[in-house]
Amino acid sequence: MNKILPTSTAGSLPKPSWLAEPEKLWSPWKLEGEELAGGKRDALLLSLHDQLHAGIDIVSDGEQTRQHFVTTFIEHLSGVDFEKRETVRIRNRYDASVPTIVGEVSRQKPVFVEDAKFLRQHTKQPIKWALPGPMTMIDTLYDSHYKSREKLAWEFAKILNEEARELEAAGVDIIQFDEPAFNVFFDEVNDWGVATLERAIEGLKCETAVHICYGYGIKANTDWKQTLGSEWRQYEESFPKLQRSKIDLISLECHNSHVPMDLIELIRGKKVMVGAIDVASKTVETPEEVANTLRNALRFVDADKLCPCTNCGMAPLPRDVATGKLKALSAGAEIVRRELGA
Ligand SMILES: [Zn+2]
Repeated sequence: MNKILPTSTAGSLPKPSWLAEPEKLWSPWKLEGEELAGGKRDALLLSLHDQLHAGIDIVSDGEQTRQHFVTTFIEHLSGVDFEKRETVRIRNRYDASVPTIVGEVSRQKPVFVEDAKFLRQHTKQPIKWALPGPMTMIDTLYDSHYKSREKLAWEFAKILNEEARELEAAGVDIIQFDEPAFNVFFDEVNDWGVATLERAIEGLKCETAVHICYGYGIKANTDWKQTLGSEWRQYEESFPKLQRSKIDLISLECHNSHVPMDLIELIRGKKVMVGAIDVASKTVETPEEVANTLRNALRFVDADKLCPCTNCGMAPLPRDVATGKLKALSAGAEIVRRELGA
């Protein structure tokens, strides 16, 4: 993409109310069987339309075909028993009932590749596809087989690599791995987190991204943020290692957060997807607010490496709010492009 400051979203967008209950995470589907399959494709096209209409440059499927960014991928793997559920503490923050690893994990068939081909057929814009990262996957499961977080992470990395290679072949331009767990388990990030991520991107020629955030605007996350103090320095733990990694882009949370902007210095040389949209608030940013966040970021990242983005996914927001935020993102980026003489 030659355009300067290409805009994109971190991931999910709201689903239409006829497909799943709105403003809810892990919202159950309202359709079944063939109707559900067709409904998901229709929703993907709507989501694509919303992004294009708002002027978003790098588009996605808005995660319309998945119930949850981690579990939907895991559901397609063998070695996981969804009937056998255990309650675990996710990212040291909230309890959830999760499936159990009961045997060797493997991917019997592609998970999102058909969806990606479908999206590719409907737009000439660059497309980005999100997958869960290995560490975030193991943190959303109960493991009674490997009994080692690291061992399981390497297995998932291998599986993710198989999926990523097929997504690349389907025409995906950027493959993104969501690793919110990188903001929590710092020792593991350094011991094997970044290494397993590099295993997941092995041999890829398309661009690769990692998204590290403070989560959706749900209560467990906003409560957690209250405990983090006035300066959020979590990125300081993972950025130096990521700066030396083979990952091309790093997606991070900036707007309305307490992340000191100068932490971006730590990933000098990487493309930075700067979160200029707050996903934990229903207030739509003004273009000028977006522009301000981008101007701030430009003190620490070169203009040719700045990619305006959202802080995280917008699935739990009302659709009109999410659409308003997409438009604000585009308009804010355009203000800064003009200032840069582009
Ligand atoms: Zn996120």
